[in-house]
Amino acid sequence: MLAVQIKPEEEILPLISEKGLFIFECLGCREVYYPTEIAAKFINNLKAEIVGRVSLDYLCNREFVSEYIKAYANKIKKAQVILVSSCGVGVQVVSSLLENKIVYTCCDTLYLNGFQGLIAQEFNCDQCGECYMNYSGGLCPIALCAKQLLNGPCGGSQGGKCEVDPDVSCVWQQIVDRLGKLGRLDILERLGPPKNWTVSPPS
Ligand code: SF4
Ligand code: SF4
Repeated sequence: MLAVQIKPEEEILPLISEKGLFIFECLGCREVYYPTEIAAKFINNLKAEIVGRVSLDYLCNREFVSEYIKAYANKIKKAQVILVSSCGVGVQVVSSLLENKIVYTCCDTLYLNGFQGLIAQEFNCDQCGECYMNYSGGLCPIALCAKQLLNGPCGGSQGGKCEVDPDVSCVWQQIVDRLGKLGRLDILERLGPPKNWTVSPPS
């Protein structure tokens, strides 16, 4: 089981203020506690221009989400920013399908003890409790970097592969490449408070 909570307003509002937003909202699944009413209230109260919004089950299902993206293509094209309300897996799926867009999440995904459900997707979320993907181009450095670096790349990658496991792509190289293509390398210059690891799952 894992739980989703809406991020503090002071983190998310400056990222999306007055920008054309397209919003993906996951309606959750049995393995995830998703705060449906709180999320809807947060989204309804946003002052930013919303160019489109879709609520769907299983934002972690790539094929399913692809179909929605096709159906809403015109509205998504108009959006400057994509905002995703879901667990970290759903955010990564949307981000991977919309590589030409800045993708933010308004949620933190927290670990809850007990059965973790089936995670058969190509993406994983370590449920670190304080989602970092707003500062890493919609890719997760917690689940995908062997050293869980927040200020990568570490300098050891070769040919875009991780020095710890050469069969795996260096996620920090991917983050830099993606933000570079979007003209948003400035996102990596952010100086924020240290990540709160106390809300991460026990190791
Ligand atoms: S940073 Fe990664 S591990 Fe943490 S909540 Fe986001 S997707 Fe999950
Ligand atoms: S090579 Fe890339 S993915 Fe591997 S540990 Fe270094 S920064 Fe992380």
